[in-house]
Amino acid sequence: MSVLIFVELDNGSVKKTSLEAVAYGAEVAKMTGTTATVLALGKADISSLEQAGAFGASKVLHASDDKLTHENSLAYADVLAQAVKQEDSKIIILAKSGLGDAVAARASAKLKAGIVSGVTELPVINGGFTVKRSIFTGKAFSNVEIKSDIKILVVKKNAIEAIESSEKATVETFSPVLRDQDFQASVGTIEKASSELSLTEADIIVSGGRGMKGPENWQPLLDLAKALGAATGCSKPVSDLDWRPHHEHIGQTGIKVAPNLYIACGISGAIQHLAGVNGSKYIVVINKDPEAPFFKAADYGIVGDVFDILPKLTKAVEDL
Ligand code: FAD
Repeated sequence: MSVLIFVELDNGSVKKTSLEAVAYGAEVAKMTGTTATVLALGKADISSLEQAGAFGASKVLHASDDKLTHENSLAYADVLAQAVKQEDSKIIILAKSGLGDAVAARASAKLKAGIVSGVTELPVINGGFTVKRSIFTGKAFSNVEIKSDIKILVVKKNAIEAIESSEKATVETFSPVLRDQDFQASVGTIEKASSELSLTEADIIVSGGRGMKGPENWQPLLDLAKALGAATGCSKPVSDLDWRPHHEHIGQTGIKVAPNLYIACGISGAIQHLAGVNGSKYIVVINKDPEAPFFKAADYGIVGDVFDILPKLTKAVEDL
């Protein structure tokens, strides 16, 4: 019996959000006196799979069939169910993402497993099995008891601090039966042309709102992002106005992010924007209006003019 963690790959490497899920799964394995096994599907860099060991997994099952390289939630759920049966796993962990939720929901139906998505902390296991999840786009939490024999947890970023060791996991070949009906729709992958950091994977995001006044004023924000090795984001009106590309739009109707550090520059902090950033570990707000609602959600706030503050912050980071 083991805790089974489904990981997502990006160009053959395990995604950072999935490594956090591995660390989470390893903790749950410790709590339940078992081991953590990872399931990776498609073409993969073996050294990246071994790295799952550094986050507490003892073994990686790798199904390398080319057909599994493209994200196909039907096939992935079926293969996951087969791995669960082989390993006799009772707890399955996935990182929260579009793919994670799609695979988890399908696997839950196949395995008759209780499922909780948006898990924010380690479970409480004391006779029952209760997990805390975030609801209403992060405005509240609920505690949910899972009573089924097999349990599926879809874990939010930052639910656990993932500490890396130098251990390596052993990688074993896994040869699932692939069902033709799962491959009737053609699923492909479009490579991103740019080398920009992905917002959903970024550790640090520097984000701008209408307080930046116009697209021609973005350089100080880009300079800070470069100094910090951060990705850049923006509020909805900024992308609606074409000041920044639409893929940078963060919020309820845009991308939901959960970096370690989110720096909001000239963003008021409307509820729809907060819905996309409240998974962040630390929020820093720079706004010239001390009454801006974003300050209520901030860990650190700077009341001041972005055009004055940003160059000073950049210089301070460069001087570190
Ligand atoms: P503003 O509200 O105009 O705020 C600008 C801020 O900049 C102000 O707080 C001001 O004090 C500050 N400022 C101005 N000049 C400076 C300066 N020189 N230095 C420092 N600070 C300065 N919004 C999103 O972001 N994401 C969403 O996904 C989203 N979805 C929505 C969905 C719906 C259905 C609706 C109705 C709205 C949605 N919105 C969304 C819009 C949201 O309600 C706000 O209108 C929007 O977030 C405001 O953007 P902003 O903070 O950039 O601009």
